[in-house]
Amino acid sequence: MARFKLALIAHDQMKNRMVDWAEKHRDNLALCDIVSTGTTGTRILERCPELTIERMKSGPLGGDQQIGALIAEGKIDGLVFFVDPLSPHPHDVDVKALTRLALVYDIPMACNPATAELLVAGYMATR
Ligand code: PGA
Repeated sequence: MARFKLALIAHDQMKNRMVDWAEKHRDNLALCDIVSTGTTGTRILERCPELTIERMKSGPLGGDQQIGALIAEGKIDGLVFFVDPLSPHPHDVDVKALTRLALVYDIPMACNPATAELLVAGYMATR
């Protein structure tokens, strides 16, 4: 079975939640090809150094859009993007752009930890 290609992004106030989620699911994530925005990937690797994560640029510098391009190229099977709903971000439009591409290409997109749990459960059910 082909490896699941998973993209991981977390806004700053959500990075601790992302790192906790990644640690909880590290065995499953080890079976995936992971790409991330720069800082998110660095933070996950500090906690889970055994994972292989291809890091793009930091989100505000274009990393979200690099991941969007991968979605458009059919190179992403699922997206976990922990969006901070309580802070303004200079790159707010990137959330909208990634959401739109996830809709266009019909890939699962989890924007909060609760939905990310379901995404992992769904992935496990198909293995
Ligand atoms: P970062 O980018 O992982 O480089 O912080 C995430 C974002 O804010 O889009």
